[in-house]
Amino acid sequence: MPIISVSNLKKSYGELDVLKGISLDINKNDVVAIIGPSGSGKSTLLRSLIHLEEIDGGSIQINDEYLVEQGSYAKPQEIRQITSKMGMVFQHFDLFPHLTVSGNLEIAPKLAKKEPMDKIKARSEELLEKVGLTNWKNAYPANLSGGQKQRVAIARALMMEPEILLFDEPTSALDPELTGEVLEVMKNLAKEKMTMVVVTHEMGFALEVATKAIFMDNGEVVESGNAKALFEYPQFDRTKAFLKRSL
Ligand code: ADP
Ligand code: MG
Repeated sequence: MPIISVSNLKKSYGELDVLKGISLDINKNDVVAIIGPSGSGKSTLLRSLIHLEEIDGGSIQINDEYLVEQGSYAKPQEIRQITSKMGMVFQHFDLFPHLTVSGNLEIAPKLAKKEPMDKIKARSEELLEKVGLTNWKNAYPANLSGGQKQRVAIARALMMEPEILLFDEPTSALDPELTGEVLEVMKNLAKEKMTMVVVTHEMGFALEVATKAIFMDNGEVVESGNAKALFEYPQFDRTKAFLKRSL
């Protein structure tokens, strides 16, 4: 059974049809690379999965629960519960500038008030070690490099113990020499079998790490399947042209 199942998802901004009936299934432990030209609807799709955008039609199921069923949303409390299984990492990190690195990690679980502070602290220390930032726990975001900020953002997303991590171009805002350290953290998560959906222009990373690739163009899924097969033997002209420009 898929962990994410999307069927006939439609989304418009006014006259502009941004997602024109997207259907896809993602299985547990998949690392899915979503690729496609700028403006094809990749960010809108990811944001819809986590309910940062409201869709106009179609269905989204997370595990076996409907976030939206044929255009009608679950109740607010159910929506919160369903989306809490997912964490998201954004292109521009979106850290809280007035909080330290530790503070950024601890704020959401603190506000959720579901566990004692010592447990939250212990997990924050563990995750900072995992992303190689133990020595930076008392620093403020302004004093970090872009690569360090993005590693904080990943650790912060992991604090809520998500079953699925969504990444929207996590290295696009970074200087080229800083992308490696972020991709390394993501590769380790893939090794630990984290289910990940990654919008990316890093074709090398996608080829090396992704189990599945989805090519989007103009609000549609043009082609999807095994990542290596899609990169090596694209079936459609639009996919071929895009890969030719990107590889
Ligand atoms: P991608 O991430 O593939 O570059 P997006 O999902 O960001 O694509 O955008 C798809 C289309 O939707 C683009 O034409 C974009 O200009 C438009 N769009 C995105 N967000 C909004 C918004 N909030 N209001 C109006 N148009 C938007
Ligand atoms: Mg985008």
